Amino acid sequence: MSRVYNFSAGPAMLPQEVLEQSAKEMLDYQGCGMSVMEMSHRSSVFQGIIDKAQQDLRKLLNLSDEYEVLFLQGGASQQFAMVPTNLMKQGAADYIITGQWAKKAWQEAKKFGKATAVASSQEQNFSEIPDCSNLNLTPEADYLYLCENNTIYGTKFWELPDSKGKPIVADVSSCFLSQPVDVNRYGLLFAGAQKNIGPAGVVVVIIRKDLIRTDLPETVPTMLQYHIHAENGSLYNTPPCYGIYICGKVFQWIEAQGGLKAMEEKNRYKAGVLYDFLDESKLFKGTVRRQDRSWMNVPFVTGDAQLDADFVKQAAQKGLVNLKGHRTVGGMRASIYNAMPLEGVEALVEFMKQFERENR
Ligand SMILES: *Cc1c(COP(=O)(O)O)cnc(C)c1O
Repeated sequence: MSRVYNFSAGPAMLPQEVLEQSAKEMLDYQGCGMSVMEMSHRSSVFQGIIDKAQQDLRKLLNLSDEYEVLFLQGGASQQFAMVPTNLMKQGAADYIITGQWAKKAWQEAKKFGKATAVASSQEQNFSEIPDCSNLNLTPEADYLYLCENNTIYGTKFWELPDSKGKPIVADVSSCFLSQPVDVNRYGLLFAGAQKNIGPAGVVVVIIRKDLIRTDLPETVPTMLQYHIHAENGSLYNTPPCYGIYICGKVFQWIEAQGGLKAMEEKNRYKAGVLYDFLDESKLFKGTVRRQDRSWMNVPFVTGDAQLDADFVKQAAQKGLVNLKGHRTVGGMRASIYNAMPLEGVEALVEFMKQFERENR
């Protein structure tokens, strides 16, 4: 067996220990004689799995009882519709446009009410976080929406904007559990699992309980109502059982690593190794304004499309795979989530040095 260092933006690497443990439990989960994939979601065994996953997540986040945790389906993209459907009480919301995911969320929200872009870095090709120091918010807006870590462009909000009392709704798909977070500062946050917490098919939603409406219009599909999922403990219908089980294992793995504080230290150091090299390289350069750099997704270019393509190809031959940048951006992107070991980033930098020597 030989595993590669997988720099994919998502689905992304999972911790090897999690894969090994789940492989061991594949045929017989803790003596019950079947796989988690085969068991009833109404069984006490599965109830134990989902309860433990929730408990462990709450513990990692130090989450207060004022928040509900939901394990849903439909990916982060379905939240683009669920958020306005459930939260636009007065029919308006403000959006900060920092890339494709934020833009998609904004476009979707327009189907449900008045969605206003109050800041954008589109003119900078999304290579920075726009100035949000004094946002001109819509008085009747029900929330302020942002995408906290921009997976495609490699930018991150290192400070939340002043939302002037309005609930902040954040897409944290690609930075969730990468460092400590004060959930109390958000009304709602959501994360598709396949970036940093598990396999595709699960989206974690954390919502302040007072924002969960039960008075939605009758035309709102049942499955798109947060209160239905909250009242049923994420078991209104069959949930993505196996995905939830793996997410639970990842939560335990993070705890065993020392929790979110330890993840933060590791991620800071790991990203630093790559950014330090990019800053001194004569061939490669990062594409993001320094103060807005993400620790999770690191885009870089040589400035020569052919050389970029050669790099991606040769890297793959060395077991450093999925380094091609997003199709709309080009160049390279190294996604280095929690599960990417430091050795993977070091191997990448070593190869970049070698490539630089050979191509200058
Ligand atoms: C990947 C990603 C999405 C889309 O996730 P799906 O699960 O494919 O819907 C949305 N937002 C961000 C920030 C992402 O990284």
